Amino acid sequence: MPITAGSWPPHFPRSLDYPLVPAGSILAGAAKRYGDRIAFAHHDRSLTYAQTYRAACRFANALRAQGIGPGATVAIHLPNCLAYPVAYYGILLAGATFTPANPLLPPADLAHQLADSGAVAAVTLGKVAPVLSAIRGQTAVELVVVVAPDDLTDGQAEFQTFHADQPDNRPELDIDPRTHLAHLSYTGGTTGRSKGVRLPHRNVVVNTLQYACWGTGSLPALDEDGDLTLDQVGSEEEWTVRLGTGRGINLTPWFHAMGTIGGLNAPVMAGGSTTLHDRFDPIAYLADAERLRVTSIGGAPALFAALLASPDLATRDLSSVRGLSSGAAPLPHEMLKALAARFPDAVISEGYGLTEVTMGATSNPSFRSGLRKQGSVGVPVFDTEIKIVPLEGGDEPVPDGEQGEVCIRGPQVMEGYHHRPDETAAVLVDGWLHTGDIGVLDKDGYLSIVDRKKDMLLYKGYNVYPRELEELLIAHPGVAAAAVVGRKQVEVGELPVAFVVRAGESVTEEEILSAVNDNVLPYKRIRELRFVEEIPVSAAGKILKRELRQRL
Ligand code: AMP
Repeated sequence: MPITAGSWPPHFPRSLDYPLVPAGSILAGAAKRYGDRIAFAHHDRSLTYAQTYRAACRFANALRAQGIGPGATVAIHLPNCLAYPVAYYGILLAGATFTPANPLLPPADLAHQLADSGAVAAVTLGKVAPVLSAIRGQTAVELVVVVAPDDLTDGQAEFQTFHADQPDNRPELDIDPRTHLAHLSYTGGTTGRSKGVRLPHRNVVVNTLQYACWGTGSLPALDEDGDLTLDQVGSEEEWTVRLGTGRGINLTPWFHAMGTIGGLNAPVMAGGSTTLHDRFDPIAYLADAERLRVTSIGGAPALFAALLASPDLATRDLSSVRGLSSGAAPLPHEMLKALAARFPDAVISEGYGLTEVTMGATSNPSFRSGLRKQGSVGVPVFDTEIKIVPLEGGDEPVPDGEQGEVCIRGPQVMEGYHHRPDETAAVLVDGWLHTGDIGVLDKDGYLSIVDRKKDMLLYKGYNVYPRELEELLIAHPGVAAAAVVGRKQVEVGELPVAFVVRAGESVTEEEILSAVNDNVLPYKRIRELRFVEEIPVSAAGKILKRELRQRL
């Protein structure tokens, strides 16, 4: 493992033993160990670990009673709510496959995903259930379970009624965790028609452990019934963050990889208490963070940008916060510096990954002795290898310090895309996943993501990386948020165009342009700047560059 000398605590292994158990074992283990502790809270309601587990078992039995078990796929088409973990673990405990759907997907995209995944049942919310009803004929969905329904139509069941009277014992399950699918997760939303990523139970267990152990300094263990649990090693002083064992506010959607693994399975594995917020309101977020004495703040960079822009950040007592973790998109250096100044005692870590590796592949060392390098997404997590190959193609790694395509190998890499052998073969070569991201490894094995392969602009044949220009834009005090995309122009290829959200009325276009253009090579200069009210981002916090390109 390429960890800088001295940074790795001597008694902690560099590789983990991953117990071969089904993913439902994560909740089963937590329910015994942390039974009375609040697992999830939403508005004035909450579920303890024991309650969540019993409800999930009832849900699993209700699915089984409908003939839904191993071999069947069930969609969850819900925003984060208390029903989500019950349905999610219920599906896994029943041995069915979970396919997560963004509840705001347009009907055509939802129909594509449900049909492609072969889902036979879906769990939805009353408010968005009509979308499902409208496309039913195009999918194999026969059963729809509705949380908070306005009314029910044929083939629909109310969520509580569906499972309330079922036994709360865990159904028998005989599957091979190495091959049996736990998740069929759709990705590619920002680039085109999405593809199903096949993730067996083992992937979910492995990637959850890779991050839960990284953040808490624990090792995987099995309890007396053979369910997963964590054994703490080392002292609290050595293991500073212990993110999972703490209290957090959740905004990361559970239908996205970062939500399902980082925001659901990892905290459950470590007995964390998660409070759900329906939407992001920085004032409410900060007030709750103070009231709940949260120990960790996690999310996409857009969350941190909004918190930093809020005047309440300075006035709230956030001394309980020990860890900040960012992922899903690049965290600009300026924001990192501002966060470090506001939270001098917290460990700030940035992780990197993609749906095709279940969730993640790298993280900054989470222990205090670990070296965190600015601008880097850290080192590969346990049992994970990263190599950088030339952008033009070829499998031989480029020298340290040179840019190329990031390739990942490890036990969390997907089995492949669902019935798309050609697309699978294009990205999976000898176990190495070709990510389409452009990165650099330094001599200590720290990875920096420079850009995405397709997000690169070509100006007169020169490569321009939007990330570099966005960093400079964000560094300007008059800029609250920014994104750069290319405008096609026959003469030159693509021209860099900036979309900018102003931080104050007084700043001018000229000022911002010269702050960037005086500091870059001539071919990288921003040729056009547009002030906008906001930068469009996906539910997972990624800038929707395709939408910006369409505006041009
Ligand atoms: P998804 O499959 O939706 O999780 O998207 C994965 C993509 O998000 C990756 O291929 C990267 O392009 C981008 N991404 C994720 N994490 C980071 C990060 N920390 N820094 C830069 N890009 C990231």
